[in-house]
Amino acid sequence: MLRAANSLLRTGSSPNQWQQCMKISSSKATYFAAAPNPQTNPDILYTGLFINNDWCKSKSGEIFPTVNPATGQEIAQIQAGGKEDVNIAVAAAREAFKLGSPWRRMDASERGSLLYKLADLMERDRSYLASLETFDNGKPFSASYYVDVPFSIKNLRYFAGWADKNHGKTIPMDGDYFAYTRHEPVGVCGQIIPWNFPLLMMAWKLGPALATGNTVVLKPAEQTSLTALYMAQLTKEAGFPEGVINVVPGDGKTGALIANHMDVDKVAFTGSTEVGKLIQQASGSSNLKRVTLELGGKSPNIILSDTDMDYAVEQAHFGLFFNMGQCCCAGSRNYIEDSIYDEFVERSAERAKKRTIGDPFDSTVEQGPQIDNEQMNKILELIESGKRAGAKLVAGGERHTDLGDGYYIKPTVFADVQDNMRIAREEIFGPVQLLIRFKNIDEVIERANKSEYGLAAAVFTKDLDKANHIVQGLRAGTVWVNAYNAFGAQVPFGGYKMSGHGRENSEYALQNYTEVKSVIVKVPQKNS
Ligand code: NAP
Ligand code: MG
Repeated sequence: MLRAANSLLRTGSSPNQWQQCMKISSSKATYFAAAPNPQTNPDILYTGLFINNDWCKSKSGEIFPTVNPATGQEIAQIQAGGKEDVNIAVAAAREAFKLGSPWRRMDASERGSLLYKLADLMERDRSYLASLETFDNGKPFSASYYVDVPFSIKNLRYFAGWADKNHGKTIPMDGDYFAYTRHEPVGVCGQIIPWNFPLLMMAWKLGPALATGNTVVLKPAEQTSLTALYMAQLTKEAGFPEGVINVVPGDGKTGALIANHMDVDKVAFTGSTEVGKLIQQASGSSNLKRVTLELGGKSPNIILSDTDMDYAVEQAHFGLFFNMGQCCCAGSRNYIEDSIYDEFVERSAERAKKRTIGDPFDSTVEQGPQIDNEQMNKILELIESGKRAGAKLVAGGERHTDLGDGYYIKPTVFADVQDNMRIAREEIFGPVQLLIRFKNIDEVIERANKSEYGLAAAVFTKDLDKANHIVQGLRAGTVWVNAYNAFGAQVPFGGYKMSGHGRENSEYALQNYTEVKSVIVKVPQKNS
């Protein structure tokens, strides 16, 4: 029995699409042979505010540029939502939420049908959506086409299925009463999302909110508004009633207006821990709106000496470098057992040096640019701090200057990293892998947990007993065993400690978007 389980562990979980994406791109197979041609200069159709199923301009006339990170060139000017615009969007969402409105009168199964329709429209426009995502965000088209778009579609379909299955309970209450609960929508939901997975984060937020009957005012990150705006148009085409989904682009000020708004019932936020704290404070100083936060991480990846070395090196590489290292759950702190440490360092450095970097529309490219100049400089500054602190640079360590004005950083690997160095404590959010030595398992669990974050973790071993011991000891919302970055709409995702609270995806996400109403009915015992 144990042997069977161990052999399961050895082979890891069945490969999912994220993993396939990594494998295919790393072997440079004919990845695009079956894929439609990317549109390297996609039409920009929508740059306005989407309120009440209509496009409009900002009342203040403010606009901001969105930039292609691969070239540093401006793509378009976007309308910036100001106070008046946010007020109008929230009022539209409130109106759409009123009892008797088309949305509130709609059968739950019909809400599900609209979500299915939205997913179908994304499928129809998959190639365009993936192109637009790559153009605005800089991620390889292979990732946009094989990961971001299909995973967003799967997410919407998963929550579409929940729409008419959101049951309350009947409760055996003391006394002459009949009691039951209703799971009702929270109301107007503010959703503030980041730039690292613009479409996917939008799907993670919209799916559960709409399945449970809420209305939404969503603010995309200022760097990546374009796919959110195109999605807004698709929601209209799918048939969502006016006011149910409103998209208001803008910068942090627009986000703050939503977070502080007295008529927003809930805010769901994904982004930095720093802004997450502001969102929570805004709730406290306004109307105590419900808050769910999915924040930063500094995830440990523990690699034991009995692991399959080739597999673990590749998975650790993927766990950190996927999406240019711009993942909240990136496997940043790799703890490697002493006896295999030197070989692991050598192989990880070799792998990083082989990583192909360049134009994200080139099908042989694994790594595109960082999102913007500010993020690139932040990462380069942290790399310099690592060098100064005495970590040993074994790959990369600087900007890629042969690729024009794009925000490219060479895949970077540091060995001999100590836990107290800044690079081992702060979220880098870039292509910087840290290799740290450890000697025994209980020591490494303690060191892995010594972080303000607790989003994700992983362990690689063939020994089931050791794996289970480590899984139990780690304080993180997700722990992968012999895998990294395996995601499913069916599985909850969220953080311990300062990585946030609340869970996205899965049945648990429904709780973020529902209030529980207890109904207690007197049941007379005599017929009078
Ligand atoms: P951020 O400031 O936390 O941005 C996330 C979202 O919050 C964006 O839509 C942002 O708008 C908005 N926002 C900013 N200030 C706000 C405020 N005061 N009130 C309400 N909303 C506000 O993240 P960032 O500046 O883009 O990146 C900084 C660091 O955050 C990164 O280096 C990385 O460490 C971390 N990060 C984490 C995640 C994640 O998935 N957990 C994602 C992205 C970044 P603007 O776009 O206009 O700023
Ligand atoms: Mg910011």
